[in-house]
Amino acid sequence: MTEQSTNYKNFIAAVNGFDKNYSADIDPEHYFGFPMAPVLKVESDLLDPRVQSIGYFSMEFGIAPSIYNTFKLSRPIPEENQFFTHEVFSNYWLCDYLFKIQIDKMLDIPIYGGGLGVLAGDAMKSAADLGFSVAGVGILWNKGYFKQKFWYKHGQIPEALTWDPYNYPGLIPLKNIVTIDTKEGPLHLRLWKYYVYSHDKSKACPIILLDSNCEQNAPDLRRLTDQLYRSDDVWWKIFQRAILGIGGMKALVNLGYTVDCYHLNEGHAALAIVEKYVNLPDKSEMARWRGHFIYTCHTPVAAGHDRFRIEDVGRILPEAYTQACELFGKESPSSSQINLTFMCLNNCQQVNAVAQKHGEITRLQFPDFAPKIQAITNGIHIHTWISESFAGLFDRYVSTFGDWRNHPENLAKVVELRGNEEFRRDIFLAHQVNKKNLAGVLERWKLKDNVFTIGWARRIAGYKRPALIFHNAQEILKLANEVGPVQIILSGKAHPNDDIGAAHIDEILDHIDMLNAHRNVIRVMILENYDTYFGKLLTNSVDVWLNNPLPPFEASGTSGMKAILNGVLQVTTLDGWVVEAAGSDIGWIFGYRHAGPEIGDEKHLRLDEDSTALYGVLREVMKLYYKTYKDMEVNIQSPWIDKMINCVKESAFFNTHRMVNQYSNQMWHSVPHKS
Ligand SMILES: *Cc1c(COP(=O)(O)O)cnc(C)c1O
Repeated sequence: MTEQSTNYKNFIAAVNGFDKNYSADIDPEHYFGFPMAPVLKVESDLLDPRVQSIGYFSMEFGIAPSIYNTFKLSRPIPEENQFFTHEVFSNYWLCDYLFKIQIDKMLDIPIYGGGLGVLAGDAMKSAADLGFSVAGVGILWNKGYFKQKFWYKHGQIPEALTWDPYNYPGLIPLKNIVTIDTKEGPLHLRLWKYYVYSHDKSKACPIILLDSNCEQNAPDLRRLTDQLYRSDDVWWKIFQRAILGIGGMKALVNLGYTVDCYHLNEGHAALAIVEKYVNLPDKSEMARWRGHFIYTCHTPVAAGHDRFRIEDVGRILPEAYTQACELFGKESPSSSQINLTFMCLNNCQQVNAVAQKHGEITRLQFPDFAPKIQAITNGIHIHTWISESFAGLFDRYVSTFGDWRNHPENLAKVVELRGNEEFRRDIFLAHQVNKKNLAGVLERWKLKDNVFTIGWARRIAGYKRPALIFHNAQEILKLANEVGPVQIILSGKAHPNDDIGAAHIDEILDHIDMLNAHRNVIRVMILENYDTYFGKLLTNSVDVWLNNPLPPFEASGTSGMKAILNGVLQVTTLDGWVVEAAGSDIGWIFGYRHAGPEIGDEKHLRLDEDSTALYGVLREVMKLYYKTYKDMEVNIQSPWIDKMINCVKESAFFNTHRMVNQYSNQMWHSVPHKS
């Protein structure tokens, strides 16, 4: 037998229920419609001690198969794994009542909540494109995050989401089960795999997903991996973090992967460090093992840093684990709490913040660790987020952009076309194609492709100030009456336990309601169940992308990066990734600017001053828009088009190919090889 066929036999032997459920979709040549060879190659790399391999731990992965690299399933995809209809809440009530948005699409594999997960998914995709041997480690959330429903006067009501992992294309359960000792008895975790393929399908990387929903577990424990970020009780929070960190390390051992480097994407995975320590026969070896751990810190916001009372940890984890948590995670010797951020900072040799500005802020927050905190700016996966019309545009100007798919840095050459009148027209028209597409999806609401359109879509969290544009809604109305009509499209979920987020949604719904009488000049709508499909649709089609977080609390932000790749201008505060692009005139920067050694208060939202600044800048933006595109005529000399060109130029940098290469060169590379 050839090595290839042995590998294949081993592969299918590990799949639970292969003959019954998966033999029609997996054969020596095929994996759910994709080639099998890349799967066997990466599996053999991960087992090979000569190859440097990385375990990339993340609580969430937003892989976006609804828009990219969609697998095939030979049997029909069950209805709960599809997501056809989204409701809309707009100032055109009748339409909301009569219609829903209907799209034929798959449910995104529902194991992410927002930007952190989308970044993790994009990082895996670039790792596959670039041929790194990376295994993602995450959790199979049996009920996803949640399903969002808006009710007038009640705001967001979270509903349970149901999906069927056994009939989700590309996802396979393994026979492998790992077991964690807990105070509630043994907790068994089934391993699943999902493969992330490169854009040309020649390479792949697996994501290992842990699942507590196995028969061997008591009913309470079976539900532990139901809902992502369930946080009504510390019991859930600690258990979920133990599953990711401790279970994840056991999974890598169980699979026989020879991993050199444990990359913890956010502090949720910190207990991986504890698992390594507890299993060391000689504890003095821990000093050396720290060199194998890497930590990416994603937020300056307090809620993003987990703290648990040692007493609560002791209710769940055995003595040896609780002691190790105390040893590694206490902020000070007298503290009765552990802090997972601190545990990571203390025990990971390499640490990165997610933008230059966030690096500064993280060093201010954790001065004792300042010397080892570097900044590697986030990115987006070009192939996932580029629209067809912009890919077509770059292909048409091949002598400028060359092999931009494998070399996204080539996009910087767009500046060479600045004086090319044909290109200036083409880039604007490529945008119009995307805007027409949006207008088509929202046709029932009479969205127009020649009316100035603003997009805002992201997690609804206090510091992101989702309702800023409505802070003084009369001003928006004045702009619409004086300069020209406006369309505003919003979308986003608030965490079910986040009352402030929920209050913002109520506020938005109220404002939409109040604008009902003015829909001849202003159309406002909020779309239910923001996901990567709508992320892509909106970021590439609106005229400006509004990004108004309170500085300095947006560590990076990535949705604006999706927008600039597609020539969509930014109206933004100066925070996160934008600080690094601010010299390039990618739109308009407004509002409060952070400086100095104090971080400030994330609850002091500065809504009065910053909304005033926003209306001021919007007047300018709208005037320029209506000078650029009026009566279906494009003014190709308009500075608007220069800004579009600047946006595309910046996307040469703000992508995950560059980011993953930096992870490799600046962090993974310096990890000692196999020990
Ligand atoms: C890109 C994306 C995000 C992240 O947006 P930010 O600008 O970082 O807040 C969140 N959710 C979805 C579905 C996305 O596609």
